[in-house]
Amino acid sequence: MRALVARGPGAPLRVEEVRLPTPGPGELRVRIRAAGICHSDLSMVNGTLAPAYPLVLGHEAAGVVAEAGPGTRLPVGAQVVLNWAPACRTCWFCRRGEPWLCAANTAPAVARGETAEGDPLYVTLGLGALAEEVVVPEHAAVGVPGDLPPEQAALLGCAVLTGTGAVRNTARVGAGESVVVIGLGGVGLSVLTAARAAGAGPVIAVDVAEAKRELALAAGATDFLLPDDRLSKEVRARTEGRGVDHAFECVGRSATIRTAWRLTRRGGAVTVVGMGAKDDLVSLAALDIFHSARTLRSSVYGSSDPDREVPELARAVGDGTLDLRPLISGRIPLDEAPAAFDRLARGEGARWVVTFPG
Ligand SMILES: [Zn+2]
Ligand SMILES: [Zn+2]
Repeated sequence: MRALVARGPGAPLRVEEVRLPTPGPGELRVRIRAAGICHSDLSMVNGTLAPAYPLVLGHEAAGVVAEAGPGTRLPVGAQVVLNWAPACRTCWFCRRGEPWLCAANTAPAVARGETAEGDPLYVTLGLGALAEEVVVPEHAAVGVPGDLPPEQAALLGCAVLTGTGAVRNTARVGAGESVVVIGLGGVGLSVLTAARAAGAGPVIAVDVAEAKRELALAAGATDFLLPDDRLSKEVRARTEGRGVDHAFECVGRSATIRTAWRLTRRGGAVTVVGMGAKDDLVSLAALDIFHSARTLRSSVYGSSDPDREVPELARAVGDGTLDLRPLISGRIPLDEAPAAFDRLARGEGARWVVTFPG
């Protein structure tokens, strides 16, 4: 089968023929119907993370069960959304109700299958979903209705679960609270949508690209601002001089984390959703940490339980209360995925979704 493979950091991405194992006990083979390109995939190839190579990219996808290994429950033909942090349900974190921190999910790349030359192949976050097929443990697949459009179902597996969960589970944004969202990729736009749905206002979107203005307003922002030297003043003008109750940092850089911190009111909360680099240090003054009384925390996978929340989000898409179409910049074939990575690196568009015929 064909898959988008990275051979090393900075190496050009190529679509290659690779081989996956047949599903063993408790495993499924899933034929991918749609897969989004997420910023974390870019982090796998631009040196931010150090996974093993050759690596099949992709971790946000929906597909159809094509083959079910012994002892599985999901039937052949079922539509599933892939979960890149499947919970073991037995470790310390899972038992205390924090499955997004499951101790079984620590490696950015997992060995599975082989290249055309017969070398070991690795897959991103246990999935490797920018491919015609994946073989995954059954608990990495969440069943959703078969009539859900695959490209919208795919987004539930990372951007939407992460963005929605950051608002509802991590920050617990309430009606009437003010929100700023920095960085408007797929996750940032999902944060906007969820914040607006929670009754927050104003919901202020911030991005370096003026081209994101329309997208932001379509996704639920009440205001769009560029991160220039008037940003702080503009945000304070919209929050009675205080700064926002909640800032969401969806970039993963020290500079934007500091901006988020600065835009938040005394006693407010900064939620870091973007995944940054290990050598990018955030500097905050000790006096400021004390005096501002702010909370700084991160949201991993939206502090969510995908087994419960993906079906809930799927229902909201199905009944029209959650519209994911503004997030999708375009549908492309697998062969155009390398060019879409370049566009993502330049900050163009929201989600580029690879779709597969059939
Ligand atoms: Zn992702
Ligand atoms: Zn666990």
